[in-house]
Amino acid sequence: MSELREPCVPGLFTEEGGASLLGARCRSCGTPYFPAPSHCRNPSCAESALEPQAFGGGGTLWSYSVANFAPPAPHRFDEPFRPYVIGVVDLDQGLRVVGQMVGEAADMRVGARVDLVVAPIYHEDGKAFTSWKFELSRGSREHA
Ligand SMILES: [Zn+2]
Repeated sequence: MSELREPCVPGLFTEEGGASLLGARCRSCGTPYFPAPSHCRNPSCAESALEPQAFGGGGTLWSYSVANFAPPAPHRFDEPFRPYVIGVVDLDQGLRVVGQMVGEAADMRVGARVDLVVAPIYHEDGKAFTSWKFELSRGSREHA
């Protein structure tokens, strides 16, 4: 971990105290959000009462697809481009969120347990630029 790390986009996630997404939850209706919106978007919510909430820990892989093409600018990636997996994960804390998966498509399966992690997206000037990703939980890897 001597590698210098910097978030691709500041303010969206943290690695302190474990990887987590910096979102919000409505105190009135309980709806979780990431990223945090300016007000609650639940049409049947009587009162928008958003408060910051960090979402982390485990979840379940709801669906995934494989990107066989390099993402367009301004997105960056390490050369040579390698296909990567994009997952849709239901976090146990009640948030459905999209993120890049750590690992190969052949190891993925819908319903697998995953963990939120912060990992490099690309490297530049000796620095790793990070984002949130999902990694198959230990048990899911063994049974894949
Ligand atoms: Zn609400």
